[in-house]
Amino acid sequence: MTLITLEYGLSRNYAPSDLVDISGQFPVTVTLGYPTQVRRVVLEPLSQMVEDMIDAGLRPQIISGYRSYSAQAIAWSKWLEKVPDSAAIVSAPPGHSEHQLGTTIDFGSPELAEIVEDEDIEFHTYFYKTSEGMWLEENAHQYGFTLSYSREAFELTGLYYEPWHYRYIGPELATELKQQGLTLAEYLLDLNSPPCMP
Ligand SMILES: [Zn+2]
Repeated sequence: MTLITLEYGLSRNYAPSDLVDISGQFPVTVTLGYPTQVRRVVLEPLSQMVEDMIDAGLRPQIISGYRSYSAQAIAWSKWLEKVPDSAAIVSAPPGHSEHQLGTTIDFGSPELAEIVEDEDIEFHTYFYKTSEGMWLEENAHQYGFTLSYSREAFELTGLYYEPWHYRYIGPELATELKQQGLTLAEYLLDLNSPPCMP
């Protein structure tokens, strides 16, 4: 499992070889017409989760999935230009985004615009207050998704709380992390910590 933080990143050459386009797999109310790709392994659990959310009366949106190193570089500079002081709150520098893995999804909610009182808003910490955000926090692990950046993430990862950002790691590990109250970064860094010398 690859650890990605502000310190540990991916090479500019890394790209998964099994990306699939998900646009045709979901209603347009979910994809919003965006041309999103994910790794093949993510497609089935993602479909199942979205279907269950819709069945529960929710309105999940998939705002982004795979982002190449160069696409992340473009996104990063766009955020830097738009909100120079807070770019790091909503984005990550190229090579330091889990979106390059192809297993990570940013979700949206139609409720967010109303809560934040900004109709153009895509990402905001208040996603955790939306029905979709609350459902994901409670249930995403059952489908193999884990919240990468918790409220406490910054100290360890250099990246801020992103309640909309979920990474697919499989139901077994996702459930273990959920039960232990750990993020993947906490789990991986702990596994890699040097042995305690007497
Ligand atoms: Zn994200």
